[in-house]
Amino acid sequence: MNYLPLFHNLRGRRVLVVGGGEIALRKSRLLAEAGAVLRVVAPQVETQLRELVQGSGGEVLLRGYQEADLDGCVLVIAATDDEPLNAQVSSDATGRCVPVNVVDAPALCSVIFPAIVDRSPLVIAVSSGGDAPVLARLIRAKLETWIPSTYGHLAGLAARFRHQVKGLFPDVQQRRAFWEDVFQGPIADRQLAGQGAEAERLLLAKINGEAPRAGGEVYLVGAGPGDPDLLTFRALRLMQQADVVLYDRLVAPAILDLCRRDAERVYVGKRRAEHAVPQEQINQQLVDLALQGKRVVRLKGGDPFIFGRGGEEIEELAAHGIPFQVVPGITAASGCAAYAGIPLTHRDYAQSVRFVTGHLKDGSTDLPWGDLVAPGQTLVFYMGLVGLPIICEQLIGHGRSADTPAALIQQGTTVNQRVFTGTLGNLPELVAEHEVHAPTLVIVGEVVQLREKLAWFEGAQAQVL
Ligand code: SAH
Repeated sequence: MNYLPLFHNLRGRRVLVVGGGEIALRKSRLLAEAGAVLRVVAPQVETQLRELVQGSGGEVLLRGYQEADLDGCVLVIAATDDEPLNAQVSSDATGRCVPVNVVDAPALCSVIFPAIVDRSPLVIAVSSGGDAPVLARLIRAKLETWIPSTYGHLAGLAARFRHQVKGLFPDVQQRRAFWEDVFQGPIADRQLAGQGAEAERLLLAKINGEAPRAGGEVYLVGAGPGDPDLLTFRALRLMQQADVVLYDRLVAPAILDLCRRDAERVYVGKRRAEHAVPQEQINQQLVDLALQGKRVVRLKGGDPFIFGRGGEEIEELAAHGIPFQVVPGITAASGCAAYAGIPLTHRDYAQSVRFVTGHLKDGSTDLPWGDLVAPGQTLVFYMGLVGLPIICEQLIGHGRSADTPAALIQQGTTVNQRVFTGTLGNLPELVAEHEVHAPTLVIVGEVVQLREKLAWFEGAQAQVL
């Protein structure tokens, strides 16, 4: 180990920063966040840095550096572009046994800044000892995505009850088991979901030895349109916690693979007009599993609240008093449009966008066709393939031009994505000609023609896929 990681308590302590530019500012920000009182010395000091120093209760010295500036300082940062000066500061500090950091000059440093993941009071520091800072930053980025932004709140919760728990369990082993249970169970789930009061209530109950209610819960998770990269952090976290996963036909296998390995997987998919599992039965299954104390992920394509019947499922859960969380997902319209290079709105062509179900109950009459032909809007039809001839006919019949640009996007965002563009007049023919099948999204409106201008786009996305 070339460096020993230590965390430095700077609160209320004086730190010298030599330099008044951008880099000095960046380092000073970190120091101020840790509560340091800054002393900045430089002939010129940027306004933002001056304000920061003021806020820290420190001082700005508008002149050249002198050794006496180190008096009373517990740390010094040299952040100038004057190499001899940086070396001088390093040598003076070393002579006085004051820890010193010279930006971008590891040889002159006795301490170095790590890459930091800040979930205060939880702080993670990563360092390559100056050999490969980029690598350290990449690891930091991975940690950032992996650790929920609210993770620090867990530490806050623990801090509030630390003494009480210590009194309850004088034995270290028991105490460790208690906290492991808290941090990996429903109490942590609540806290991370932003339900701090409920987390506290559960923790108190646990401290008081009350048997917890069988902790079943349902997570209604939007899995996005197909590309696993489009999952949210929260979706992924809950998928990796769940005991059981109920999933739809629209959920791609690559996404299902990201669920906890030993989670039970239950297929409840539906095809149009061929309802594999009736909705009522799914609702009941969710309730039953949660009552057995299981953590259940109900994984849905796109967003659970957009043509996803998510509303009905949570109604049932609420009626049975079962706790649930809803995690939004990227809906097919956003995903497909982005991956096909079609902006859904545009200053010149569409000031609004409308998501419409194309699943026509009784032929042609149950959509507000008059509204749908209003100019300046983009229409996105979900489940529109079967009714497409009627949809096109009605829109044209109600006054939208047969030349209106339109697009079909099949299996959008996945490696199998296919995009066909035409007009309202010839869209049904395109379906037959190219044997387009579900899931397919239909986009109607002037914005579709922008796809040609953005033709480079699909190639760019393909590389990403
Ligand atoms: N809740 C989902 C929609 C469910 S309705 C969401 O928010 O996206 C099912 C319809 O969504 C399909 O018939 C199809 O029109 C559309 N759809 C979903 N995923 C799609 C995809 N990857 N590509 C194209 N269309 C998709």
